[in-house]
Amino acid sequence: MKMQINGKAVEACGGEFFDVKNPATGELIDRVPMGSENDVDMAVGAAAAASGGWAATSPQQRGVILYRAAGIVRQKKDELAVLLTREQGKPLFEAKNEIEGFANVLEYYCGLAGSLRGDFVTVPQNGYAFTAKKPLGVCAAIIPWNMPALIMAWKIGPALISGNTVVLKPASNTPLTNLALASVLNEAGLPAGVLNVVTGPGNSVGEALVRSREVKKISFTGESGTGKRVAELAAGGMKRVTLELGGSDPMLVCDDAEIESAAIGALRGRFYNCGQTCTAVKRVYVFESVAEEFIKKLEAGIRNLRVGNGLDGNISVGPLNNLSQWEYVKGLVTEIKEKDEGKVLTGGKVPEGCEYEKGYFFEPSLVVDVPRDSRLLNEEVFGPVLPVVTVKDLDEAIEEANNTRYGLGASLWTKNLDRIRTGCEKLNAGVVWINQHLKVAPEVPFGGVKESGMGRENGPDALLEYMDTKTIMLKV
Ligand code: NAD
Repeated sequence: MKMQINGKAVEACGGEFFDVKNPATGELIDRVPMGSENDVDMAVGAAAAASGGWAATSPQQRGVILYRAAGIVRQKKDELAVLLTREQGKPLFEAKNEIEGFANVLEYYCGLAGSLRGDFVTVPQNGYAFTAKKPLGVCAAIIPWNMPALIMAWKIGPALISGNTVVLKPASNTPLTNLALASVLNEAGLPAGVLNVVTGPGNSVGEALVRSREVKKISFTGESGTGKRVAELAAGGMKRVTLELGGSDPMLVCDDAEIESAAIGALRGRFYNCGQTCTAVKRVYVFESVAEEFIKKLEAGIRNLRVGNGLDGNISVGPLNNLSQWEYVKGLVTEIKEKDEGKVLTGGKVPEGCEYEKGYFFEPSLVVDVPRDSRLLNEEVFGPVLPVVTVKDLDEAIEEANNTRYGLGASLWTKNLDRIRTGCEKLNAGVVWINQHLKVAPEVPFGGVKESGMGRENGPDALLEYMDTKTIMLKV
């Protein structure tokens, strides 16, 4: 596949390509252009040239194009999902959900098109003030590999509907779905230059994009360390940033919780997308009195998960997406075993069998008796390993839950209203779920606190991230 600049599929200026491989089999899927600073300049130039014309269209006109694109995506859902599974590794049913999620987000922002407006204020002595909402111009969207389609929609939906143009940089492991979705937007009638995609490494293409003078805003999703680097570079040009970064979401299970549902919540919350979800359940704190029952049910659920190639209809967990994540997870679990830092109840190794030989597979793993200073509780573990810790009460659970540099999501499992109120107040996270975990929706603002980032995606809040407020004072 080629890059998308100014409505055309193009090769990189340098003429080089890089490989995109299937993480389940190691097979070559496709080659994409190895972009460089020159390609970023061309894409940003195209986006800047398209900016005035696109901003001058009405939000409703923009909405018609995005709505059409969402419709084409729905028609092509099956082929797009296969492409996503092949490059990312996730099971096909998850890939289909994600492609549908892309269409849902676009349609949601089409629905908001008619409500984009400023305000009117009467000002004592001075008369009147109006505020107008203005697009920012060229926005950069930098995407990770774990949910490339959904996260693309979270960025381009609000950016495009509010009249901005976009240069998008996919992750190098998963550029194909982003490129295919961009060509659907072109097919739906998006004018040339409004959405451009440049493929290539983060430290060259990504940084050139963040540094570019014409780029007014960067919407970045990725690891917290990379987010800090992006924020630092953006500060030099006084650019707006939205940062959706890492997480280490805690799940708190009280003694009055519905234990069966909590175990299912932990199972889905941790092992969806092979544990590679920013808001995955990454730590469980369960009350001592119900720990045995909870762990037993969870362990049984984990043993039933079927690991394999995402294209095989019967599997529930695919491979990890890439070699470095696989090495990290293997290394971490080996260290836990060697240092006797917890008991691995199930999983804990690479599965055996010829179908697993060429992929980045790891068995879904449950670890108990984990010491508080274990890396498993203190790092963002982006893989299928779940630590469960017992606590005596809610105060202890909340203290442990908040004892992290992250603050993306947290969930509390209880039927008690007092506990719910306490959890909502005290859990220091951008999203607090009660008796559920992981659910996000286009209508609901999403984002983190602390080192999980700043700004919000989804909901009407995301529109504000892509518009300036211009005030007009009028004396009559
Ligand atoms: P990453 O930070 O390595 O890469 C993300 C993107 O940034 C990629 O496109 C990469 O090429 C680019 N990049 C890398 N270095 C860059 C630089 N110096 N300047 C500009 N761009 C650069 O993250 P990843 O490994 O692709 O994704 C996994 C991480 O993303 C996890 O930490 C996960 O929690 C996080 N994530 C967060 C959310 C959220 O909404 N909060 C959602 C999904 C993933």
